[in-house]
Amino acid sequence: MPELAEVEYHRKQWDSLVGQMVCDVHVNPRARIFREIDISLLVDSLRGARLKTSLRHGKRMRFDFAGDVYLGIQLGMTGAMRRLPQSQLSMLDRHDHLVLETAKDLFVFRDSRMFGLVRYAHDAESLSWWPDDKPDVGSSRYTFERMNAFLMRRQQSPIKNVLLDQEGFPGVGNWMADEICWRARIDPRMRCIQLSDAEREALFEAVREVAVDALRVIGKDYSTPPNDWLFTHRWKDGGNCPRPACKAAPLRREKIAGRTACYCPECQE
Ligand SMILES: [Zn+2]
Repeated sequence: MPELAEVEYHRKQWDSLVGQMVCDVHVNPRARIFREIDISLLVDSLRGARLKTSLRHGKRMRFDFAGDVYLGIQLGMTGAMRRLPQSQLSMLDRHDHLVLETAKDLFVFRDSRMFGLVRYAHDAESLSWWPDDKPDVGSSRYTFERMNAFLMRRQQSPIKNVLLDQEGFPGVGNWMADEICWRARIDPRMRCIQLSDAEREALFEAVREVAVDALRVIGKDYSTPPNDWLFTHRWKDGGNCPRPACKAAPLRREKIAGRTACYCPECQE
């Protein structure tokens, strides 16, 4: 499932649409990703529109067109944004649900399992689906005070679950939550109320660091993170902690409230 940095990478695939005019719009009208909008309204608004800018917030993207047209996209499980040459129009298939055609290019939103979502607003006042008031963890507006206030509201929940809550940690998904706990040396099963002041500080540092590192490595060009991140060791059974002091301690994989968490029993006690 795409998290903050993966979504940033996908957003950038449509970067070169900025300044261009959409000549035509192709949709698969039965696709579930359009379940919340009137498709004909969307198509009419986008045809002839020029993209001004694009934004990302947490796992959401927004594309702002001239004339107060706002397109929102969430990737869900399998969504992907692509840019293809216009000559490939006839090669698109049934998973390419939304295609913006310009004079030279095709900007495609593809989603095989259709857990993604397309939204639309025709003026700034209708942007209720855009969570402007809650800065995402990659933003400099995301502060320790904001994080701590959220932890206080979720005192009895395991920290791993709280990290996955988009209300408090917009953009964090499963691998980021594991990486954050590992870097902060916090056992993901701990309840928020059990965290000391020093652990809260360490948690905040790790949230910011993982967000910045993920955007720099994955968000830039989908590179594989280096070996000294938990990321490269956590995906399957048999991984070892990359922290030198742990001397390749076997990582533990365990379900915490329905999600698989991976952590090191040596350094996350
Ligand atoms: Zn370790």
